[in-house]
Order: sequence, then structure tokens, then C-alpha cells
Amino acid sequence: MKKRTKIVATIGPASDSLDMLVGLINAGVNVFRLNFSHGTYEQHRIVLERIHEAMKLTGLVVGVLQDISGPKIRIGELKESFSLKENDTINFIREHIVGKKLTDSEYEVSINYPEILAQLAIGDYIYLYDGIIRTQVVSIDEVGVKVVVENQGLLSSKKGVNFPNTRLGVDVLTAKDRKDIAWGVKNGVDFMAISFVQTADDMINARAILKSLGGKQNLIAKIEKFDAIENIDAILEHSDGLMVARGDLGIEVPYYEVPNIQKMLIRKANAACKPVITATQMLLSMTTNERATRAEISDIANAVMDGTDAVMLSEESAVGVHPILAVKTMSNTISETEKLYKYNRYEGFVKNDSGDTISESAVRLSCDLDTKGIFAITSSGSSARKLARYKPKKTIYAVTHDESVRSQMTLSWGVIPLMSVKKESLGEILEVLMSRGLKNGSVSRENSYILTAGDPIGKAGTTNMIRVISKEDMQLF
Ligand code: PGA
Ligand code: MN
Repeated sequence: MKKRTKIVATIGPASDSLDMLVGLINAGVNVFRLNFSHGTYEQHRIVLERIHEAMKLTGLVVGVLQDISGPKIRIGELKESFSLKENDTINFIREHIVGKKLTDSEYEVSINYPEILAQLAIGDYIYLYDGIIRTQVVSIDEVGVKVVVENQGLLSSKKGVNFPNTRLGVDVLTAKDRKDIAWGVKNGVDFMAISFVQTADDMINARAILKSLGGKQNLIAKIEKFDAIENIDAILEHSDGLMVARGDLGIEVPYYEVPNIQKMLIRKANAACKPVITATQMLLSMTTNERATRAEISDIANAVMDGTDAVMLSEESAVGVHPILAVKTMSNTISETEKLYKYNRYEGFVKNDSGDTISESAVRLSCDLDTKGIFAITSSGSSARKLARYKPKKTIYAVTHDESVRSQMTLSWGVIPLMSVKKESLGEILEVLMSRGLKNGSVSRENSYILTAGDPIGKAGTTNMIRVISKEDMQLF
């Protein structure tokens, strides 16, 4: 039995060879993530080419997610690393300077978005080095913002800075991001993830940029700012999916809130029939070790049981010692967890349109009649996603004639994407689909199936029928 929860793997120096990409796909990767915080266009283009080659070699479809880096706030260059101790002070200077030590206990640095300093108030926290060093604002003047260090740590050049109580007040799409989005459209990626989203406007702006470039990519909002949590309903409404970006989120909000936030985000994304990725530190120890910790395995199992569409690897697959083993570890954990999975979840979902009712009915029928699977003939992917929210025990096949829609189905829970030919009538599509399936063994005359479709065929969002394809019907193909 195939796993139903999908795997996203970040590609980096440890995994960007053709052999590796093939190995990763065979180990269970459904979507590759290209992290645009690193690398040149030329490097990404080569990886993309290899991914296409790897798809041909494996005969499997994977999606490509371009992660747009957004305004990652960092300190500037330092003359030398700071060995900080409790009660030292750091002055964040508005001007661009090379950071340096002034006295035994005083330091000064600059940051790449100095305009954020204007948003700060005395008493606010500033975290340095991905949350490892904690500081608090004690005074503000025209030169800069002074903070007191609350714990010791070694700070080196260009380390990340988080402002957990502060609205950024900067555009989450930088000039580089806009160029990167244009690259993604030109090169035909399937998903774009927008970092540090704070409000629905951030997604609306990203969509407008995408549209102006003629792109139809799915937009994933990375939830990693405290204010994104406050605005989650509006953000979700304007996104095609979410990422629970636990790395930055765990610094932005108290760490102990992350598990409940993860559950809340997954529940909301499920209800909206939009894919959700649970990301960061899922197998972090495997970046350097061959064996995961028990806690990491439990973390993956927990996200799977929560109902996430996908789990994600970052440095584990980008720079780790054994990317394929990390993916296998994830695949094994998912498959085992899905043995005790709560399938056929009907409770708590509002049905907004007839498509929702048809989807629920199709899932119920597939169980009552003990069919082998549900075929969703879909031109936008929407009806397959509507089926997926119920987490049906029976396999969902998304049948589409649009290649980019097929690729976008790779991220959705339990959905197997299939290509169909463009035909005028449902009968013709069914004929092609079933005779091909019988030939390659993916369907059988011993089984019955459910089919959902819109008739007449080919208009997005018009799913209006359920058909039972009985064993007797199967004899006709
Ligand atoms: P990043 O996003 O890896 O781009 O920082 C994910 C996260 O913050 O968890
Ligand atoms: Mn992040």
C-alpha cells in the first residue's frame, strides 16, 4: 500500500545530482523544494532540468516548489565574531556599518532592513541567530536602538534576526523576490511559497505580481510570523495552501504554542480543501546522523495524524549526510502511521456548495460499496482537493488533461495524479482511462470504482455527477 501523506524535500548541494534526484523520487518524494535563499538562477535551472530528467527515468510525477525568500532580516558583516555574555549591550545602528566591539561589554551592528528599527519600543525583544541569543530593547535614539543581552552566545556575521513583538512594516516581497517570481513563471515551477506573510494583502500582492507575469502557480503562504496567526482566515482565503514554517514560527511565538498552532493551521487548511505542509526540523538530527531520534519520528507521526497533506525536509535533504535515508525514514514512518490513521473524516466540515456535497457523497459511496478507488475528472484540480479533505480510505485518482494541474496535485494528500487525453465526452475519457489502466494493471475488472465529473466536460468548477462503475461495467472496457 502506497503512503498517502506526501513528502517535500529541499534540494541542495547534497542532493542535486541526477542520481540523487532519482533516488529521492524512488524513496517517496512528491515535491522538490528549490530554496531561493540560496543559489544562482543558473544552478536552479540545472536542477530543474535534472528533475525533469529524473521524472522521465522513474516514470513518476513530482512537483516543484519555489521558496521565495522574502525579507529575511539579518545583521550586517562583523569585523570579528562577538562573544556575548549576559548584560552586554548591542547598539543596532540605523546607518550601514561593519559591526564591531566597542568596549568589553558594548557592541554595535547594522541590519539589512534598518527601517524596522522605527517600529520598536522599549521592552520589545529582539532575537539573534535563529533565536539562540535573546535581547531586550532598553533605549532608542536617532542613532539606533540599544538592547541588553539576556543570555550568552557567539554571534557571527549575517546571522538572522527576529522581532517577535513587532510588525515588520516592510513589503514582504523584495526586489529580489519579484525577479525570482518572474524566473519561476518563466521556468514553469508548480508552487511558490511566500515567506514572512503577515496579512492577506501580502498574498493578494503576490497574486497580482504573478498574474501580471501570466503565471498560474499555486501560492503557498508560509506561516512564520505572529501576526500571520492573527490574520489566518483572510490569509488562507487568498492562498492556495499553507506551510507551517515551524523554524521561524517557533521564535516568533512561544515555542510551546507551536504544536497547537500546527493543529489549528492543518484543520483550517483541510476545511478549506487547500494543501498544508508541515515543515522544519522534522528529522534535523539526520543532517549529521544516520538514525533519527525517537522524538523526530513521533513528530512526523503526529503531523500525519493531524491531517497534514505533506511533511517537509530542509537541511536534512539539502546538505545532510544521507538525503535518501532521510526520505526513507519519513516514508516508513508515514506508512506505519497510516495503518492506524483516522480515514473518512466527515465531522466539522461546512459544505459550501454542491461540489462539497458531491465529494462527501462520493467518499461515502466508495466505502459503502467497497470500491477500489475514486476517479475525479478535474480540469482545475479542485474536485480532487475537495475529496482529499475527507481523507478517504479509498485511493483518489485526479484525472486531468492539464499538465500543470497534474503537477499541482502532487502536494495534496492521497491524490494520485493521472494524465488524460482531451476528449469531448465523458464516455471517451473513461474508455481511454480504463483501457490504459487495465493494460498497466492500475485498475482491474475484479473491482468497482467511483467517478466524479462535470458534464458537459471541461468546464472548471462544475462537478455535478457521481457514477458508480461496477464490476459488470468494468467488463465493458
Ligand atoms: P525557511 O522557512 O526554511 O525558509 O526559514 C521554513 C521555516 O521557517 O520553518
Ligand atoms: Mn522561515
